[in-house]
Amino acid sequence: MDNPNAQTPFLQLHSDAFRAIVEELSDHTKVLLSQTCRSIRHMLQKEKIVPALSAPEHVRLLVHLSRGNPDVWVCATCKKQHPVTEGDLWGDNRFSSCPNRKFSRRREGMCRINYARVQLALKYSRFAIDNSRIDSHLKRLIRPEGSVLRVKHRHNLAEFTSSSRPRVIDGRFLVKYTWKYRLHSGSYTPSKMPSMMVCDHQRLLRPAGGVVWGEERKQLFRTVLQAMLDDRNGVEYCGSCPFCPTDFTVRSFDNRMRIDAWKDFGPEDGPSNPTWKSHSLSEAQRTPKHRGSVRRLYYEIY
Ligand SMILES: [Zn+2]
Ligand SMILES: [Zn+2]
Repeated sequence: MDNPNAQTPFLQLHSDAFRAIVEELSDHTKVLLSQTCRSIRHMLQKEKIVPALSAPEHVRLLVHLSRGNPDVWVCATCKKQHPVTEGDLWGDNRFSSCPNRKFSRRREGMCRINYARVQLALKYSRFAIDNSRIDSHLKRLIRPEGSVLRVKHRHNLAEFTSSSRPRVIDGRFLVKYTWKYRLHSGSYTPSKMPSMMVCDHQRLLRPAGGVVWGEERKQLFRTVLQAMLDDRNGVEYCGSCPFCPTDFTVRSFDNRMRIDAWKDFGPEDGPSNPTWKSHSLSEAQRTPKHRGSVRRLYYEIY
């Protein structure tokens, strides 16, 4: 019997046009395409287009193949699927179902973001509307977190609170972080800057820290300095990181300071996705200008 798929317009294309279209695809997508039907696989093999996948591309393929299965997640360390357990819903490597527990992880303040959490939250956001079990899983993965810390800062009592609030917007995993600092007496001055970071590339160091940063890594430092020196009435000063999709704002009020940051951890893909990788210090490369766009996207209504 003739293959009915052979008559589809896509397969009727001239081989040059077919090749031009398919070569635009990433390697793992070419392999996915080759699995859709025998006719396409035959065309791809005839044109010698089906690639051998690198390890990161193999993981991306597994992530895309598991999109319809809410009971598994793909581990980049083991390069295979793991069944989802209660521990995975905490998004913390200590409770992970992975026996190796070494996969890529982000830790900002009290919010631990590992890739399993991002992957599952994005997957569950597609299922949650029709499924109450998945909806409760999703709520745990995007739960707000917070902490209060009282510390002695240069003989001065200080209170430090941090919170994080993840959201899934337009198929991307975003997190808003807030850090609030309050001195019990006196006011914040440049010499009393707290030691903190909004991403791997932008951090505040006390002047005695001694670490030299290039100008592009001083965006947060300069913004805080501006807020401290120019105004103390809570006027908002904005900045963004040139290396990763992180926007931040700083407000200074005499003995208090507030820093907010909005971060985009990317779409449902493998950990080799450029957005996810850009948050790592070792992957620091200039990203396309995004100033303010992550913050705006975070407040979009879908
Ligand atoms: Zn694993
Ligand atoms: Zn950054």
